[in-house]
Amino acid sequence: MRAVRMTAPGVLEQVEVPTPTPGPGEVLVRVGAVGACHSDLHILDAGPGVFPTPLTLGHEIAGTVDTVGDGITGWSAGDRVAVYGIIGCGTCRGCLRGRENQCRKVPVGGIGLSRDGGLAEYVLVPASRLLPIGDLAVTQAAPLTDAGLTPYHAIALARPALRPGTSCVVIGIGGLGHMAVQILAATTTVRIIAVDSNVAALDLATRMGAHHVVPAGPDTVDRIRELVGPTPDGADVVLDCVGVDATLTTARTVVATGGRLLLVGLGGGTLPVRPVADEPPTVPFETSVEVPFWGTRAELQEVIALSRDGLLTADVQTFPLERAPEAYDLLRAGEIHGRAVIVP
Ligand code: NAD
Ligand code: ZN
Ligand code: ZN
Repeated sequence: MRAVRMTAPGVLEQVEVPTPTPGPGEVLVRVGAVGACHSDLHILDAGPGVFPTPLTLGHEIAGTVDTVGDGITGWSAGDRVAVYGIIGCGTCRGCLRGRENQCRKVPVGGIGLSRDGGLAEYVLVPASRLLPIGDLAVTQAAPLTDAGLTPYHAIALARPALRPGTSCVVIGIGGLGHMAVQILAATTTVRIIAVDSNVAALDLATRMGAHHVVPAGPDTVDRIRELVGPTPDGADVVLDCVGVDATLTTARTVVATGGRLLLVGLGGGTLPVRPVADEPPTVPFETSVEVPFWGTRAELQEVIALSRDGLLTADVQTFPLERAPEAYDLLRAGEIHGRAVIVP
């Protein structure tokens, strides 16, 4: 079968590989669509030894069941599915609580991260990773598994603060951010303020339900403060889907005293935390900082339900498998709006 693999750190190429055969408990999925996540660029950039090579990338997968291994009940050829990407150990405290995204033995493990992913004609997955998608288009279902699930989980963590009359700032309106805006619009009554450095991303935010858009730049903090009030008032929740120094500075500067900072973007920035009373603190008092990772299987089921109910629609741009490297180049250049989805 054809697959697009990281054959060495930083090298992405299309190759021919044997089609895998499902073992006991496994299912071979015919990949219908796979989202191109910015995390794949971080994987490519990670340097030797961090991720295995060769590695077929792609952790946002939807398709149909092709063949099932021994001992599988409940799934058969032709079933339309989304793939939950995390494979926890199943026995640690996090996994036992249903939070495989907190697995203590395999902290960043999963399909397309620690084993071959979906940028291929077929992908092998444990049957327990499958969720039914009904008649949802595979190009819609694929981005739900991460671009939808990750902000859904982050917003769930902050839900007690997302009360009527409060504001949520979403920074970075790309694959994750444009889904975050819709999830906030569909499940809360908060005022949604979208921030991005790209004008097209801000247009997308408005179409997705943002009440205000603010271009990233020297005036960002002032512009947000005009909307939410000056410190110690501010945004009750800030969701940073970029995670570079500039966005983390904006985030901590506009968050309210007692607010919540959700750091989702893995852009490599640093958030300083220095509790002090006699000068502006780095993070306001009573503010909590969370670093969410992906989400749970139960949350993915809820995200799929939101989408099937018409409340969550990924803005997708599709590419055939042979153009996957080009899709990643465009993503790196900031020229993908919404989500690039590869259709093998
Ligand atoms: P993306 O490239 O689709 O979107 C990023 C957006 O941020 C773009 O619209 C871009 O214009 C904007 N942006 C970039 N720099 C900016 C700046 N300085 N100020 C304002 N806006 C800026 O990326 P994505 O796929 O949505 O992923 C976003 C981040 O989230 C990545 O770092 C990714 O690795 C990370 N991620 C984290 C998790 C997790 O579980 N924590 C899961 C998935 C992705
Ligand atoms: Zn991802
Ligand atoms: Zn575990």
